Amino acid sequence: MIIVLKQDANPEKVKKLKEKMEKRGFVIQDIKGETTTMIGLAGDTTVLTPEAFLSLDFVKNIIKVQEPYKLVGRRFHPEDTIIDVQGRKIGGGNFAVIAGPCSVESEEQILSIARDVSVSGASFLRGGAFKPRTSPYAFDGLGMEGLELMRIARQKTGLPIVSEILSSEHLDAFANHVDIVQIGARNMQNFRLLHQVGELKKPVLLKRGLSSTINELLMAAEHVMVGGGSEIILCERGIRTFETATRNTLDISAVPVLKRESHLPVIVDPSHAGGYWYLVEPLALAGVAAGADGLILEVHNMPQNALCDGQQSITPEVFHRLMKKITEIYNTVHGK
Ligand code: PEP
Ligand code: MN
Repeated sequence: MIIVLKQDANPEKVKKLKEKMEKRGFVIQDIKGETTTMIGLAGDTTVLTPEAFLSLDFVKNIIKVQEPYKLVGRRFHPEDTIIDVQGRKIGGGNFAVIAGPCSVESEEQILSIARDVSVSGASFLRGGAFKPRTSPYAFDGLGMEGLELMRIARQKTGLPIVSEILSSEHLDAFANHVDIVQIGARNMQNFRLLHQVGELKKPVLLKRGLSSTINELLMAAEHVMVGGGSEIILCERGIRTFETATRNTLDISAVPVLKRESHLPVIVDPSHAGGYWYLVEPLALAGVAAGADGLILEVHNMPQNALCDGQQSITPEVFHRLMKKITEIYNTVHGK
């Protein structure tokens, strides 16, 4: 529900109303329009009667919000959210590329890749330390040592780091070491974890679940926001379909749909969508053309020896050439 205030609304009365609603368990969001001031109320608003608000002398109108998501929706927050991590911005006209290996394997590996992607223009370094693997016998990451190697790579290159959290036991470690906390496709509906990561009040990269709808992705982001997080990057990484020629099917329409529905930045992961290195370039460019605010790409210095996702990793040389094409497409689409 959105409460539209009269222009001469008494600030004291407005403050009291907000406090009262907060005490009743609603999440309050100030919405500043060009000429009007509004208050967004998120929570179970079915228990509220619009007439009760309309009888207040400072309330002009009540707008019912039909969408189940409130805080992540454009109605509550018309302007694009811009996420700024140590001066590297994403969203609201700022395009950013996150690049790096699927998993951190050694100091030499992560430093070599970090230096290469930094030189080619990546804004953030990705690298998994805790890996969700289908097989319990597969390499599942270096754990805390992996986070430490990521920290060293950040120190050497200046690239802020993105890594996936698998479990709440590592919340403190991620709060202290990681710049953007990734929630992977498999945990998109781990609602307790979503809240806990929101409580960290750090930027979050939230990936779409393997078989989740766009609506479910937005509701997952709403959970992070209710937890207290406000800087969330939504990621389309391909979904399960009947098609087996590719690892997943990149749902390119998710980009404009998410951008229309939400103020949060939207990025595309062509690596996990296609599943093969030769698909990364066309899918990345399609994502940029569809209006994505960024990309997350798996890059490995020796894809043939990678301990995870080597078949979909591109080399630093391919990444370098791709970055040029990404810039060209971005400039064309955005008239720059
Ligand atoms: C990853 O980014 O390495 C990853 C596991 O991605 P997803 O959660 O999209 O499968
Ligand atoms: Mn991967």
